[in-house]
Amino acid sequence: MNNPTYLNQYKRSLLAKQRELLTANGGRLVVGPAGGQVGDDLLDQALAQSEAVIDARLNQDRSSLRRAIEWALIRIAKGTYGICAACGNPISRARLRAIPWADYCRDCMEHQRA
Ligand SMILES: [Zn+2]
Repeated sequence: MNNPTYLNQYKRSLLAKQRELLTANGGRLVVGPAGGQVGDDLLDQALAQSEAVIDARLNQDRSSLRRAIEWALIRIAKGTYGICAACGNPISRARLRAIPWADYCRDCMEHQRA
């Protein structure tokens, strides 16, 4: 099931999404424990303070998504990509196309939410 053609497609969309996330963060103050870079523009920083509550939430989502993408790229390198981390069954291609960084199959994801 780990057909190299599919893997390359997933890898491309993961890398594209990763770039998109990095661009969205560019030049902005990163709030929260996961934030590695801090904007050096003091005016920007002052502005960002007022948006800190909203940004903290956004950055939380972005950084967890970024970690999920990094983890997916590692799994591609290790050859375990597309395998559900909970039950070990293959994750459907439709699901991987929609969410290339998914590490649970749909059943396990729904089970987690319930
Ligand atoms: Zn599963």
